[in-house]
Amino acid sequence: MFKPGQHVLHMREANTSYECFLISAALGQYCADILQAGLFELGECKTMPSHLSAVNGADGKAFAYMLSRELWNAIRTDLKIAEAQLRSKEGVVAKEPLDDFKKFLDFWDFSYEYDPAVVCPVCGSETEDWRTDPFHPFTLANANIGGLLVFHCKECGATIRQKHFKDKMVAEVTPAPELRKP
Ligand SMILES: [Zn+2]
Repeated sequence: MFKPGQHVLHMREANTSYECFLISAALGQYCADILQAGLFELGECKTMPSHLSAVNGADGKAFAYMLSRELWNAIRTDLKIAEAQLRSKEGVVAKEPLDDFKKFLDFWDFSYEYDPAVVCPVCGSETEDWRTDPFHPFTLANANIGGLLVFHCKECGATIRQKHFKDKMVAEVTPAPELRKP
């Protein structure tokens, strides 16, 4: 369910309001104090399910935790920071074709400036500059000198293609497979 290096999963169906907030068991253990502080802040949960539920695998052990929207909202920034720390501890850093990106910039001869902003229309994730954003919400998957940049959205797994033409950039998005309509 969680890809290597991924510990936070926020799934949202494109055409409904259904959404789901999950963190891996490893992150749950790593940032137990953040979860406790969030739960303490929210107080008793009066609705079902509670603010924090373990998701057990076939072996009866928790492999993930499901968070209520309230808990998610209360601690999401801390969770993202903890996820980044955990990822760097695990030594999992996404390999990005940065050499190709450099070539892409070297060959840039369009009449407008390159804009490093990336937006995911599926989950609403956005960044002013994917290269320097501390949360690194988009991973560069492909860059070519013809003007194409391909990003993966860390939040929802969508693929965003930025096609740079002579006078403008056109972005196309493909939602993650599990969110695509059957
Ligand atoms: Zn997204």
